Amino acid sequence: MTLPSIDDTHDQTRSSWVESANGHSSFPLQNLPLGMFTLAGASTPRAGVAIGDSVVDLAALAQAGLLPEAAPMLDGDPAANALLGAAPEVRSAVRRRLCDLLDAGKPASDAARKRAGEFLHDASACRMLVPARIGSYSDFNAGIFHSARGGMRRGRSREEALLPNYRHIPIGYHGRASSVCVSDTPVRRPNGQFRLPDADAPVFGPSRKLDFELELGIWLGRNTELGEPVSIEEAATHIAGYSLLNDWSARDIQSWESERLGPFLGKSFGTTVSPWVITPEALAPFRLPAFERSGTDPRPLPYLLDEEDQRQGSLDLAFEVWLRPAGANEAVRISHSHARHLYWTPAQIVAHQASNGCNLRAGDLLGTGTITGPGHDNFGTFLDAIDAQHPVVRAGAAERTFLHDGDELTLTAHARREGFATIGFGHCRGAVVPAAPTKYRTA
Ligand code: CA
Repeated sequence: MTLPSIDDTHDQTRSSWVESANGHSSFPLQNLPLGMFTLAGASTPRAGVAIGDSVVDLAALAQAGLLPEAAPMLDGDPAANALLGAAPEVRSAVRRRLCDLLDAGKPASDAARKRAGEFLHDASACRMLVPARIGSYSDFNAGIFHSARGGMRRGRSREEALLPNYRHIPIGYHGRASSVCVSDTPVRRPNGQFRLPDADAPVFGPSRKLDFELELGIWLGRNTELGEPVSIEEAATHIAGYSLLNDWSARDIQSWESERLGPFLGKSFGTTVSPWVITPEALAPFRLPAFERSGTDPRPLPYLLDEEDQRQGSLDLAFEVWLRPAGANEAVRISHSHARHLYWTPAQIVAHQASNGCNLRAGDLLGTGTITGPGHDNFGTFLDAIDAQHPVVRAGAAERTFLHDGDELTLTAHARREGFATIGFGHCRGAVVPAAPTKYRTA
């Protein structure tokens, strides 16, 4: 496996002439995440890079002759997903050049600074888009503490909480790509079929158990041929980057429909992603060993086992969950978690997804699964927060067991390490709006 290495683009002493990038921005010079946006009044999607409170228009910078390396990212065909489909060498060359052009102390930046008006936009003037035309979306279940709590809720003991396959196989299901939305898109409470407690027959109506799921989204960057698996050694090179992902879930619809075949309409009414794709290059200083397996855990099968991936295939990412209850002015942090609670690495998830020969395409999206941690305040979903000792989640004066209409839920993530600039993921945010009126008889 060949993970990107740490180089002078990670030097924490470098600062940018874009002043807002210095200090506490999620998007300092060392981050440079990729995204798609439109300018106010225009409809053409444009490829961009976040720097502080601004967005670099890659095509405009290339047109000015300052970023020839970006040419492969600027394919005119929007279906090609050129931004995320660029080869790792291209991504890394663009990063190096951009870092020099935006660096306050590099002579190379003089020309860029003089022509900033041509390619630098205020982020507030840009409407962010889902960063790719997503061909396929799969969601996994790699959060081991989430899975264990699910088992215990179903009456299994702590020791037997995980199903027998859990430690052998990255569990997943195929989701809907059509309803993946960008941050700040309202999420409409779904109508659906569910059975109320103690009722004999199901009803159809607005979900009463709308929940969130804190996940990491993995964006794929390379096409493969049908029938061609991806080896664990090369799996990381298929990852174009990461964003936050909220797999909104209607628990009442989900639990009634999932017998035999798993989640369906209780999930597909909406999934929210943060717009900026944090690249593997930006995350080079923030790698961790894979989840430490206990002595009784099985070794992964060879198609999921790579020495480098075991040594540094996980990510040092801290997550926070914020809730602004309906009617409140301020959001309250209700939980925090960490990517180290994922039992499977992103590379193992990619290798497993492709192991049967199902082809991958640039712009495909994989969710890791809910990232709940071991502590009570590390829940990645309301389902994991509520138990006999903790009947509600408190957010200021509000108490919740599920989301109310008007609630706004926000996920954030940061990578921090001594000696390196902290980088952030931005926001993955959505407010709940009431269910659509239904022509059917409701609950
Ligand atoms: Ca999920």
